[in-house]
Amino acid sequence: DSSRPELLQTGPMMAMIEEQLGEHFIVHRLDRDGAAEMLAEAGPRIRAVATGVGSTAGGANRVTEALLARLPQVEIVANFGVGYDAVDVQAAAARGIVVTNTPGVLDDEVADLSIGLLLATVRRIPQADRFLRAGQWPKGPFPFSPTLRDRTIGIVGMGRIGQAIARRLAGFGRPVAYHSRRPVEGLPYPHYPALLDLAAAVDVLIVIVPGGPETDRMINAPVLAALGPTGILINVARGSVVDEPSLIDALQSGTIAAAGLDVFADEPNVPEALIAMDNVVLLPHVASATHVTRNAMGQLVVDNLLAWRDGREPLTPVPETPPSVRG
Ligand code: NDP
Repeated sequence: DSSRPELLQTGPMMAMIEEQLGEHFIVHRLDRDGAAEMLAEAGPRIRAVATGVGSTAGGANRVTEALLARLPQVEIVANFGVGYDAVDVQAAAARGIVVTNTPGVLDDEVADLSIGLLLATVRRIPQADRFLRAGQWPKGPFPFSPTLRDRTIGIVGMGRIGQAIARRLAGFGRPVAYHSRRPVEGLPYPHYPALLDLAAAVDVLIVIVPGGPETDRMINAPVLAALGPTGILINVARGSVVDEPSLIDALQSGTIAAAGLDVFADEPNVPEALIAMDNVVLLPHVASATHVTRNAMGQLVVDNLLAWRDGREPLTPVPETPPSVRG
């Protein structure tokens, strides 16, 4: 069937994606028995890749340079998620392969969850829920919590989602400052060119930068020390952005007060030390995980692939790769 290009799917995806991929493409699965034989046989004919959340533990669901080397005809890698740190975008760019992601459609959802995680961490909402369920209330009231009322909020990464978080914080009457490599024109919040200076100036850090080598462990021991003993860290970006052992030390030693984490260094494995702590709120990478938003992301994955198949420019190519049009 020459009208259906051959496509490699690296791991499980939502049913609404898989149904449409099956309709428009001949789909090969990398997460099935016999994948090595499949790659050897079909790899030379595969022209598109669909990848992203639904990832297997241990990073197996990555589009590496080695995998791309098995796919000499591939023209597009469509990633489910705005973060595409699991795709070797430099290797793709070097071969003229376009990489697409799912920006924009999840900004408000992720910003909502970020605010929820901030409030949950500061006001100890999950801890209070556990207290009630454990039958503690009749024995006395839940201890007072820290407050958001006296805090300045530092946002690390002031892109689409960072700005949606900042807009929400205005409604809470809290001052916002931010760090990114370049200031964003037209924003009213103070910009800190140095992350350490931002950490020293604020009482909360909300991290929402991309993952990958540029931001690897940028939230390290000196940054946490600068944030200080009443400081709170919220990470909704990627686990790689935080030096997890240093964060555990900082939480155990009182270098910072608390943390709210949606992402971890080795998902879905979460360090026992974090699980054992009472001053952390832990979420299983759910910032965009609602029916409506995941469906919008899924449709954008499919629509990028269909645009490419029809010889149109993909809708949302990432900045590192050219929007290639199928020849
Ligand atoms: P954008 O590209 O719109 O914004 C990224 C921001 O990070 C920009 O302000 C950019 O500014 C800044 N940034 C990038 N690199 C660095 C660096 N090395 N040092 C400091 N700042 C940096 O991305 P989005 O807002 O759409 O998404 C951000 C990330 O959030 C995604 O890449 C994804 O990993 C994560 N995410 C997590 C989700 C979850 O489920 N927890 C859901 C959705 C997104 P500048 O280039 O000037 O430095």
